[in-house]
Amino acid sequence: MFSEKMDLRLPGPVQVPREIQRAILRSFDHPMMDYRNEEHQEILKEAAEAAKKVFQTKNDVYILCGSGASALETAMVNLVGPSDTILICVIGYFGDYLVDIAEHIGVNVIRVDAPWGEIVDPRDVKKALEQHPEIKAVFATHCETSTGAINNIKELGSIVRQFDAVFVADAVSSIVGTPLYMDDWGIDIVATGGQKALMLPPGNALVAVSDKAWGVIDNHKCPSFYLDLKKYRELLPKGHTPYTPNIALVNGLLESCRMIERGGGIEAAYKRHACLRDMTRSGVRALGLELLVDDSAASPTLTSVVFDRMDSDSLRKLMREQFHVAVGGGLGKQKGKLLRLGHMGYTDAADILKMFAALELGLTKVGFNVQLGAGVSAAQKYWLENPYC
Ligand SMILES: *Cc1c(COP(=O)(O)O)cnc(C)c1O
Repeated sequence: MFSEKMDLRLPGPVQVPREIQRAILRSFDHPMMDYRNEEHQEILKEAAEAAKKVFQTKNDVYILCGSGASALETAMVNLVGPSDTILICVIGYFGDYLVDIAEHIGVNVIRVDAPWGEIVDPRDVKKALEQHPEIKAVFATHCETSTGAINNIKELGSIVRQFDAVFVADAVSSIVGTPLYMDDWGIDIVATGGQKALMLPPGNALVAVSDKAWGVIDNHKCPSFYLDLKKYRELLPKGHTPYTPNIALVNGLLESCRMIERGGGIEAAYKRHACLRDMTRSGVRALGLELLVDDSAASPTLTSVVFDRMDSDSLRKLMREQFHVAVGGGLGKQKGKLLRLGHMGYTDAADILKMFAALELGLTKVGFNVQLGAGVSAAQKYWLENPYC
């Protein structure tokens, strides 16, 4: 009966606010706009300008049509080719993604790994850079969405900045939700998508590029026609993109940035997400469940719960069908063994309480002995003392 009711407590895609839905629909509420007209040029320029605040950068932010993966591929294909070597920090499924992209391009990869749920030791990256002066770029996932661990991007940036290599961060599930200061932290390319904490429907790939990265890009022939950043750089000042932009999503991006501003700005967004994380973690602990990631590296955008005593997918199905609350499961080798609770973007404290109420009933139904209300109550108590979300 309620087939269209669904609370997305997923680590992406996320709930799209009405404000953004309306901004997107407005794009279709009149005859199709010629994206070369002045009105659209102004919107594109405004959206790209507003996005700078979200990236905490003075650099340009380029808007491409694509998903998060295309933003990552854009970064790689513009910097390096088959004769080059890069270092990739791998702490989960999305780190492997970067390795996979590198293999498609034919780049040599040096890996620095940490077990799933942990983060890389920046000293290992420093050692590798000292041993391999040929490393042209270092890639790291900021928030590893398969585990909910946050790599120490600030520390990694301060290390890479001492070398010729450029530093690229996959910020798909961290931007807006997790402190990220592109310029201050020395990140040369930030690659992200719109469908996580930016609260947009999928389809925007966003890439910001530092001067140091341009120095490499300008000396490299990009073998991709569509992803060639030099063309985006040339046209952005005119409010153009080299190829047809997704007008609706550009409108959506602008509204998303405006919503963040209305909510007190990007720092307030970080604080809100940290509160959602800590509410969630206190609820998980009160239920006697195990958190995958240590407090010191826990993501403000999602929380992974170890759930390997039975297939987590059956619990997720029950929560979805009975209560219309969708939570994430494990990815890759952790399929069926994790619950990934998403709390990014359009999420407030009451959403967390509802998620725990549904989770507690779901756990009881699948045969777990939990104290009903324990998770809800712990989350409520956390909020009373820290009312930031
Ligand atoms: C979601 C995600 C991606 C992939 O994004 P797509 O939009 O599915 O291509 C890449 N990296 C991270 C860290 C993500 O969370």
